[in-house]
Amino acid sequence: MSGLEDLYREIIIDHYRSPRNRGQLETPPAHRAEGFNPLCGDEVVIFIDVDDDGLVTDIKIDGQGCSISQSSASMMSAAVKGKSVDDAKALTSTFKSMMSVHSAEIGGDGSEADADAQAIDTELPLGDLEALRGVVKFPVRIKCATLSWNTLSQAFDELASSPDTE
Ligand code: ZN
Repeated sequence: MSGLEDLYREIIIDHYRSPRNRGQLETPPAHRAEGFNPLCGDEVVIFIDVDDDGLVTDIKIDGQGCSISQSSASMMSAAVKGKSVDDAKALTSTFKSMMSVHSAEIGGDGSEADADAQAIDTELPLGDLEALRGVVKFPVRIKCATLSWNTLSQAFDELASSPDTE
């Protein structure tokens, strides 16, 4: 067991026990999006406020599930709060490529995933999210780690297509 893995585990446990931005926001004006991972029973509910300039002014996380899904949601909320929607989307790509490249290494045909990862030239610092890198060794848990990010993407898509953002 390496020291780095111990550190990563501590970060994950810290976010699980003391989740950041836990709670709900009033809807509207906040937007609510919900994600579910049937493989594990994880549920993530995101409440997000995006202002007219495209800044994520506030985000709250609700739901329940395993330590990976809930700590990933906590880290995600801390990472995107105060960022622009564009930066949040870039961070989503960076995080998901970290998950997919390694899953491809484990799972077999990695040619496409590798190409995707190399195409991302705006690598953003992942901070605490680096702690989830070890999850890729357990492919069944990758959906736990990416659930909150997929739900965030869903929230942005819904916001973009909802009439009250005009
Ligand atoms: Zn899970």
